[in-house]
Amino acid sequence: MKLLVLNCGSSTLKYQLLEMPKGDVLAKGNVERIGEEIGILKHKTADGKKVEITDEVFATHEDGLNRVFKLLLDGTLKSLDEIKAVGHRVVHGGEKLTKTCLVDQSVIDEIENVYPLDPLHVPAHVLGLKVATKLLPGVPNVTVFDTSFHQTIPEYGYLYAIPYNYYTEDHIRRYGAHGTSHQFVANRMAEIMNRDIKDLNIITCHLGSGSSITAVQGGKSVDTSMGLTPLEGLCMGTRCGDIDPAVLTYLGRTKGMNIEELDQLINKKSGLLGLSQISNDCRVLEDAVAEGNPAAKRAMDVFNYRIVKYIGAYSMVLGHVDAIVFTAGIGENSPYVRSEVCKKLGLLGVKIDETANDCHGKERKISTPDSKVEVWVIPTNEELAIAQQTYALVTK
Ligand code: ADP
Repeated sequence: MKLLVLNCGSSTLKYQLLEMPKGDVLAKGNVERIGEEIGILKHKTADGKKVEITDEVFATHEDGLNRVFKLLLDGTLKSLDEIKAVGHRVVHGGEKLTKTCLVDQSVIDEIENVYPLDPLHVPAHVLGLKVATKLLPGVPNVTVFDTSFHQTIPEYGYLYAIPYNYYTEDHIRRYGAHGTSHQFVANRMAEIMNRDIKDLNIITCHLGSGSSITAVQGGKSVDTSMGLTPLEGLCMGTRCGDIDPAVLTYLGRTKGMNIEELDQLINKKSGLLGLSQISNDCRVLEDAVAEGNPAAKRAMDVFNYRIVKYIGAYSMVLGHVDAIVFTAGIGENSPYVRSEVCKKLGLLGVKIDETANDCHGKERKISTPDSKVEVWVIPTNEELAIAQQTYALVTK
């Protein structure tokens, strides 16, 4: 069965066509600069064929998806009727959309209620849903929410200590993010260990341009580092992560910064970029650290320290830890970050095998045989996870 996975942003559309249940990727790509003067479309097929379009305009997401369909019909598909379902990534499901679901009008209405919680991403996801429904009439659409995996976090973990009515009336609470990825690598960890996930305590570290850590107990998220928005927690590429909220009121009072300026500061100008004043890219900073650059070292030290701190906290939350998983761009590709973090986890009995750790983007155990906790690199695959959940739902 062929399934299409869509991830729509405000001016982007990422897609994968997969053969399920095997999970083979038949084609994938992304459309960028939708609504701008000139768009970009990068498309790749399973046989290695690559197409890059840089001289066409994609006025709307519908234009973009129509162009993708033309490319798919040029060798990958005989007819669009072969697409049996569409799985959509939705970053925020609020409190009511707690599970992967088949889309009907009531689901769309409910997602629209979530707009205020994530005005940047969620409207674009709904646009994607509407376009797919229009261009593929009669084909089931399934939404997979980044937040749903974290809906098992207990109340004392998701509440902020502010007046309770802000939770009941304004839905201000911790929701977490990257749930599809944390769940995918935790399940894979249990499979590798040949153990029932119900019996395992796993800490999953999704370290990319956005980063989060989750405590997974018996296959359920019991705490995660991101909050109301993907800003809380770790130090990230350009986001500040945990910060004393009074920093913002202080800057407002003393420098007259307004809400927009403060929002830019903590989301776009902070993290690795803000601390180093060099780059938000871990690769660039690692090279600079190797050359003895103190600003890069300062930024990477903060980045690594926060990870250690969260792993420490979640070890206490879980009681004991069976495995730690590193995933996403930095987690999969940075032996330096993994080594710096694992060296500080002696209290847990973690011992890293530096030879095994010298790897990029591969599934691999990086702890020594006598390490009390297994440490693994497991590449994440959110598109496959979305396709698996979509397939499970439409074939039920
Ligand atoms: P996202 O999906 O959130 O955009 P990714 O998971 O793709 O992010 O991670 C992107 C980040 O991964 C980049 O900003 C870069 O810092 C980091 N990265 C990629 N390759 C490497 C590498 N070889 N070494 C260190 N960091 C890397």
